[in-house]
Amino acid sequence: MKALRAFAACVVCALAAAPALARVPQLELDLRLDPASRELQASARLEAGADPGFALYRSLAVRSVSADGSAAAFERAGREGDAVLWRIHARAGAKLRIEYGGVLPALDRSLDQRGALGALAPMASSEGSYLPASGAWYPSPAELFSYRVTLSLPADQRGLVPGTLVAEQVPEAGTGRYRATFAFAQPSDGIDLMAGPYVVREKLVPRAGAAPLRLRTYFTPAIEPLAAGYLEDSARYIAMYSKLIGAYPFDAFSVVASPLPVGFGMPTLTYIGAEVLRLPFIRATSLGHEVLHNWWGNGVYPDYATGNWSEGLTTFMADYAYKERESAAAARDMRLGWLRDYAAVPAAEQGSLAAFRSRAHGAAAAVGYGKAAMVFLMLRDRIGQPAFLRGVRAFWKAERFRVASWADLRAAFERASGRRLGGFFAQWVERAGAPDVRIVRAQARAAHGGYELDLTLEQTAPAYRLRVPIEIVTGARSETRSIEVEHERQTATFRLAAMPDGVRLDPELRLWRILPRDQLPPILRQWILARGPRLIVTGAQPDAAQAATQLALRLFESAPRQIAAAALERGDDPALVIGLHADVNKALVQLGLPPEPAALAGRGSAQVWTIERPPGRAPVAVVSARDAAALEALARPLPHYGAQSYLAFEGAHAIVRGIWPAPGRLTPVTR
Ligand SMILES: [Zn+2]
Repeated sequence: MKALRAFAACVVCALAAAPALARVPQLELDLRLDPASRELQASARLEAGADPGFALYRSLAVRSVSADGSAAAFERAGREGDAVLWRIHARAGAKLRIEYGGVLPALDRSLDQRGALGALAPMASSEGSYLPASGAWYPSPAELFSYRVTLSLPADQRGLVPGTLVAEQVPEAGTGRYRATFAFAQPSDGIDLMAGPYVVREKLVPRAGAAPLRLRTYFTPAIEPLAAGYLEDSARYIAMYSKLIGAYPFDAFSVVASPLPVGFGMPTLTYIGAEVLRLPFIRATSLGHEVLHNWWGNGVYPDYATGNWSEGLTTFMADYAYKERESAAAARDMRLGWLRDYAAVPAAEQGSLAAFRSRAHGAAAAVGYGKAAMVFLMLRDRIGQPAFLRGVRAFWKAERFRVASWADLRAAFERASGRRLGGFFAQWVERAGAPDVRIVRAQARAAHGGYELDLTLEQTAPAYRLRVPIEIVTGARSETRSIEVEHERQTATFRLAAMPDGVRLDPELRLWRILPRDQLPPILRQWILARGPRLIVTGAQPDAAQAATQLALRLFESAPRQIAAAALERGDDPALVIGLHADVNKALVQLGLPPEPAALAGRGSAQVWTIERPPGRAPVAVVSARDAAALEALARPLPHYGAQSYLAFEGAHAIVRGIWPAPGRLTPVTR
C-alpha cells in the first residue's frame, strides 16, 4: 500500500557525517509539555561554544539566559527557514542556562511519510505530539552531542526521547503529572520527542553481565491489545541480531504509535503510524528492519559523503533474510522486485551507491535499498556465508558508534574472506548503472566421448567483471554452471555428458543487471502508472458498467480513455478489459486473447490478471467479476496491489495473488 510502501523504506534518523566521535558536548533539558494547549516550557543547560548561539523554531522564544550563574544578554540575530537565530553574550566555556518556551504548531494530520521526510516543525496535540530533531525545538550544542532529558506531561499522557530511562514518576489515579528522565550517552545528532495518550506496556529481558533490556510499547488504547505481540517480536529480533552480529548496543527498545502514517527508525525506538501497526506484516518484516537499524545506521553511522550503505545492509539482513527463510521463490520474487523497480528508473537518475544518501524519491530507493541489498547478496555468493558473517561481525566490532564507509566494509570483508575485493566494490559502489549481459551464441558438438558447449556472452562497454550463472537445459533436466567474464565479448566452453537443448542466463536473478523484457513479467503497476491508459468496458448492464468505470478511475493515476474492443490493436497504450464473467470471456475470445488463467479459475468473487503479449502489442490486463457489487468491492484494495501480476478477490479481500514466472528466454543450442 502507498503509506506502507513508504514505511517499508523507512528513514533512519539521519546522522550527519562526522570524522571523529570522541568527546562530545552534553545538553540537559527540562521540559514541560501540555499537548492540549500545545505549550512547551523548557530549560536547557549546556556549555557555551566560541560564538554562542542557536536556532529555535519561530513560535518559541528565549525568556532568560544565565552564564555561570549570572544573567547574560541575548538577542535575535536573524532567521533561518522557520527558525529564529539567537545570539548569546557569554564567554566560551561558560555554563549556560536558557529558559525558553512558547506554543507549538498543531499536529498536521495531512502529513505522510513523503511529507515527513523533509525538515518538520515541532507539532503538538492531545492525540499525539512529535517534536522531530529537525524541528529546532531545543538549543543544539553541536552537530553531535549527548543528552539528558526530563519530560513532564499531563497525567493522561506519556512520552519519550531515544535513550535509557533513568527515572520515571507515574501519577496515581490520573492526578498530578507524568515525569520521566532519559539519558543518551552516545554521540547523537539530534533529539526526537514523542508523546501521546499512550498505554505503556513493558517487558524486561535479563541479560548476562548487563542491565536488563527494557522493551516497551507506547500504544493508544485502541491498539493496546497488539502490545504483547510487538514486545515478544521485538525481543525475538533483538536476540536474533545480537547473536548474529554482536550484543545489542543499547538497553532499551520501544515501539511508539504515531497519529501520522509514518515509519521512522531512531536509536532505541521506532515511531510507526498507529494504523500501520495493525497490519500483520509490520511485525513480520518492518519491525525487524527497524530493530536492525540499531546496529546499522544508529549503531554504526554511515559516512554520507561516500554513500549510505546502511539501508542496503539492513534490507539484506532483514527484509530479504525473512524472504529467504520463507522460501526460495519468495526470495527470488524480492530480487525480481528490485531489478524490476530499477528497470523503471530513467538512466539519468541511476546514481551510484556512493552517491546515495537517503530515500528522497523512488529512483533513489531503487538504488540505495534494492541495488545495495543485491550487492551484499552478490558479495555473499562470492565469498560464502561463513566469511560474510565473519566480516559483518568484525565490521560491527571495529566500527561500533563510529562513522564508517563502504571502504571500511570492504576492508572487513577482505580480512574475513582473505580475498581482494577492490574491483568488486569499485564496480558496484562507485559505478552508476548496471551491466546488460546477453547470450549471443550457444553451439554444441560431440567431442572426447561427450559433448562440448561453446557459449558466447556479450555485455555493454565498459565491461563489468562478473560471474554469470548459466542454466543448461537438457531434456527434462537442468543444471547451473557459471562463467567468469570481464570483457565485452567472451566465449567459454563447457564439457557435458549429454547434448544440451538450450541455455538461460541467470534465471534465478542473482546478478545486478538490466533485465530484458522476457524476464520482466507484466504487473499491475504498469497500468496504474500508465500515461494514457485505455479502458474496454464489456457488457451492457448499467450498474456493472458504472461500477467498472468507477473502479478504473480509482485504479489509474491518469484518467483512462474508453475505447471499443475492436480498437485494442490500434494503439500500444496499456488497456484494461473489465466487466462481468460472461461478458469478459466473450470479449477475450473476440480479441483473440487467452482465457482466464487456470490459477484463478473459479476463485473468489472477482479475478484480475495481466496478459503477457508479444513486443509491440498493447499490454492488456483483465478484471472479471461475478456482479456489480464484486466490482465495487475492488475499488479500495486493488490500487494497492501494483506489484502483482494476478489476483483473486473474495469481496475486498485478496485470496490469491502472484507474479507470473518469467524465467527468461531459453536460447536454443545450435549443433
Ligand atoms: Zn531503513
